[in-house]
Amino acid sequence: MTVEKVVIIGSGPAGWSAAIYAARANLHPLVFEGNPGYPDLIPLGQLALTTEVENYPGFPAGKSKEYLSTALPPDRRPWWIETGDPQPSHGINGPELMELMRQQAVNFGTRVVTEDIIKVDFSKRPFKLRARHGEIVEAQTVIIATGARANYLGLPSEEQYKNNGVSACAVCDGALYRFGTKSGSKGLVVVGGGDSAVEEATYLTKFNDNVYLVHRRDTLRASKIMQDRALSNPRIKMKWNRTLHEVLGNETAGVTGARLKSTVDNTTEDLEVSGVFLAIGHTPNTAFLEGQVQLDDTGYIVWTTKARTYTSVDGVFAAGDVADSYYRQAVTAAGTGCMAALDAERWLAEHGIH
Ligand code: NAP
Repeated sequence: MTVEKVVIIGSGPAGWSAAIYAARANLHPLVFEGNPGYPDLIPLGQLALTTEVENYPGFPAGKSKEYLSTALPPDRRPWWIETGDPQPSHGINGPELMELMRQQAVNFGTRVVTEDIIKVDFSKRPFKLRARHGEIVEAQTVIIATGARANYLGLPSEEQYKNNGVSACAVCDGALYRFGTKSGSKGLVVVGGGDSAVEEATYLTKFNDNVYLVHRRDTLRASKIMQDRALSNPRIKMKWNRTLHEVLGNETAGVTGARLKSTVDNTTEDLEVSGVFLAIGHTPNTAFLEGQVQLDDTGYIVWTTKARTYTSVDGVFAAGDVADSYYRQAVTAAGTGCMAALDAERWLAEHGIH
């Protein structure tokens, strides 16, 4: 069996950046990009689930049709190019950006398997990885870039309006026209009571005069300084002791309201809002590691050396959101993907593997 020099698990910005760097270093990386039929990994990462991406450097608003048509092969181009429909977004959107990253990695010789890794054995070298359909791959180094997934409440209406007013990332989506007061929006809802919820609510007040922070208890979990900032912001209205009961809307307008339910007396209340942001935490995709790599108490992979992508297993590196519960941005994930590839390359060189 051939022993791979670098296997990358995951296909978000961290995975593809790692692949681009490893491929350009002639390491012939093998990427397991996830199987779209299973919920374990999201092929192309969380960006595949978003709309416009306005904060990834290098992609200002513009007509990207010509570029996407020439950069991507026909079977991976956005649907609107093939159908001749007008470009739906004015800049780059999440799936397009990820297709471009994937193609860039492929152009340099990255091999891609559209499959999940469901089991690993890091107890001896070479490492063994088992794909869902049974294939076993051996590797000298592994880069784990499996990301994290935003937690949702699981309401059918929440699912129905995802990307049409329901979001789990204010920093990614908050500046979109539909969420701003200028669009005629009467307000936004943020659900949660931790640092993310408070931070997202505060961020959204840049665009909307009316942000309702909906929390299931009567005290916030967020740090004191963040709480003070939110509670003293006149644009943030606290909705204590309430949960999101239903997202209201219609096909054309997307979200038009939110129905809240009291955790004290079960009464409901409807708010007229154009957006609902969930900030109830993320779950890192680390279950398949079965404890073979050190995780923190919330399940994220621990970087064992400051400013390095080293994990508790020598030769296994981690990049992107799977090791970052703090920044969680596409550009930071891409940066750590690059770091992981350089770390793997140096590890191989130090061990005389060329
Ligand atoms: P978190 O601290 O786990 O908070 C999640 C919040 O969502 C909690 O308030 C929780 O309510 C609520 N929640 C969870 N499940 C819910 C449900 N089913 N229905 C309604 N509410 C629900 O998550 P986070 O805010 O994403 O923060 C994660 C980590 O990142 C934390 O360590 C945080 O300090 C850090 N972080 C830091 C910053 C910063 O410093 N700038 C910014 C963002 C995140 P309960 O309180 O009732 O449990």
